[in-house]
Amino acid sequence: MYDINNVFSKILQGTIPCNKVFDNEFCFAFHDINPKAPIHIVVIPKGKYVNASDFHKNATSNEISNFYRSIEKICNELELEKNGYRLVANTGDYGGQCVPHFHVHILSGATLGEFA
Ligand code: AMP
Repeated sequence: MYDINNVFSKILQGTIPCNKVFDNEFCFAFHDINPKAPIHIVVIPKGKYVNASDFHKNATSNEISNFYRSIEKICNELELEKNGYRLVANTGDYGGQCVPHFHVHILSGATLGEFA
């Protein structure tokens, strides 16, 4: 069950500020408030999906393809491909997910440790 009061929902609604990186019809991205790498961006779909499974099962093919292509656009705009980056989607309790709106972390800017 999606909770419209989660922090990323409030960022989408504009009731909580963020440091925006990217915005289109399907996707919104902003700098993580507590970065775990020199570059740490959170990418979220505009639709109401709780986690990765919810998004991958219930979003339309159009939403899914546009979301992942938006991630590529962000990586391309920030020129991350040359030196590399990490994508992380924490899901559920075992995955360590804190915010119940599906999101993908983009981490880069330095050689990262074994895990995000
Ligand atoms: P996760 O543990 O995968 O659910 O990640 C949630 C992420 O959201 C964490 O890295 C937090 O630092 C980040 N976060 C929480 N609140 C905010 C906020 N208001 N603005 C930007 N990032 C946030």
